Amino acid sequence: MREKQTMRDKKHKAKVLIIGLDGATWDLIKPWAEEGKLPTFKKLMEGGVYGNLKSTIPPWTIPAWNCMLTGKNPGKLGVFTFMCRSPDSYVFRPYFLLNKPPKSVLDIISENGKTVCAVNIPMIHYAYKINGCMVAGWLYHPSRPITYPEELKSELDSITGGYEIDVIEVEVLPHEFKEIEIEGKEAFLKYLYRVTEKRAKATEYLLDKYDWDFFMVVFVGPDRIQHRLWEDKDEIEKYYQYIDKIIAKLLDKIGNNVITILVSDHGFGAQSKVFNISEWLIEKGLLKLRSLDKQAKVRRILGKLGLWHFGKRLLPGKLRDHIGAGMHNIKLEEANIDWSKTRVYVSRGGWGDIYINLIGREPEGIVEPGEEYEKLRDWIIKELRKLGVNVFKKEEIYFGNYIDRAPDLIVQVDDTIHGINPSIGYGSIFSKSNGGNHRINGIFLAYGPGIKRGFEIENAEILDITPTILHIMEVPIPDDTDGRVLKEIFEEESELAKKEILYQKTYERERIKEKIKGLKFKRNCYITNSTRNKKLV
Ligand SMILES: [Zn+2]
Repeated sequence: MREKQTMRDKKHKAKVLIIGLDGATWDLIKPWAEEGKLPTFKKLMEGGVYGNLKSTIPPWTIPAWNCMLTGKNPGKLGVFTFMCRSPDSYVFRPYFLLNKPPKSVLDIISENGKTVCAVNIPMIHYAYKINGCMVAGWLYHPSRPITYPEELKSELDSITGGYEIDVIEVEVLPHEFKEIEIEGKEAFLKYLYRVTEKRAKATEYLLDKYDWDFFMVVFVGPDRIQHRLWEDKDEIEKYYQYIDKIIAKLLDKIGNNVITILVSDHGFGAQSKVFNISEWLIEKGLLKLRSLDKQAKVRRILGKLGLWHFGKRLLPGKLRDHIGAGMHNIKLEEANIDWSKTRVYVSRGGWGDIYINLIGREPEGIVEPGEEYEKLRDWIIKELRKLGVNVFKKEEIYFGNYIDRAPDLIVQVDDTIHGINPSIGYGSIFSKSNGGNHRINGIFLAYGPGIKRGFEIENAEILDITPTILHIMEVPIPDDTDGRVLKEIFEEESELAKKEILYQKTYERERIKEKIKGLKFKRNCYITNSTRNKKLV
């Protein structure tokens, strides 16, 4: 009897399907939908609510997905970008090797006794126990389980002919991660469609297998193709049409009593103007190099002569690979920085994070905290804004317990500056590049019972997704969440609009647990000896 009652309750409770499309942008979807090229998107836009979803600053995949799924800003998570700075050294390490993913909407829904399926979410770097199932996402940990339950892996392998997590291979090392590009457009596209098809098959399989309350899957393909082939709009259009068909199939499967939400972690645009930030720091005398190593010398000479791409082709294969591999990932150690004369530096990787070489924080700090630090930051902001580079102080955009770990200044990519490159060797402050890069406006779309129709939402932010999901699912929202419930998406007379927004206190015990976790994280960041590194990989 009780079981029947529960079943009946469950039928009436809202179910939510989230389809994440990494890097998807209305700039492309909207005109194609209007032209009738993306019928499913068109149907969802006309029958639901859609609008921009403002990402994090900067709009990188990490921390954007983390913030979306926690409803918290990076200052509360200690996750600012892919790399974590070790406070007692100049070494950066991939943060995701060190931590369990932060407590997210998945965990909160699961703890409330509901069934959760989480498939290929980029912030999930290994699968852990949840009330339902989980498949790890991009940058998965090579020695951790990829699925929960673990035996799910072989089921996915058999239905897809060998499951694949992502479109790009990534080699994760203790101090960096390398993306291994697939040579040639045709091979890349073949890989892209193969992985996408497998993801769609796995999603359909899991939608049937579990009696889920909350289901989330992320397709990373839009990000991958837009990075690589931004100029080739025909190929991108074809791929969106493919995604459109997949979404149609998924919608057919779930029936009418599910609220479907489409999200992207950031938008996309051209990458024709790249800011070579280290070149600028060198020119301003803020970053001093002792001498350049051989690789950097070659790069710099070729760069200054405008011959890099030509010269690269003339180099013997092995040397070309060696030099080429370092182009966008130059190690600070390789650049042989004279720390005794360096006031400002950046991490390798080009994440737009700027650090002041501060006395008492950095091992060879030379800038006094307080007035000197503030004056230097103000000066950098003023000078960069003259160049059209948008830059923020950390406390302007982040708040929370972990703000000490944040970069001192953060450069934003936007329609003026499309990318940031920390490498030296270009010989100029700005350079041209191909392909696409991230923008701040991602996509938001909601469709289903109780959701307005044909309504365009403004001011939706990435932090609003978690509280909105929890409100729909009748799970109290933790009171330390930074986002808000997007109440304007609900039909005025609907239950969703009328019911009270419930919050729960984040108990002191949990706050302490978070703090301890933070300390452990900090300790991990300090450890740089090779034995420990091996364990981590
Ligand atoms: Zn992304």
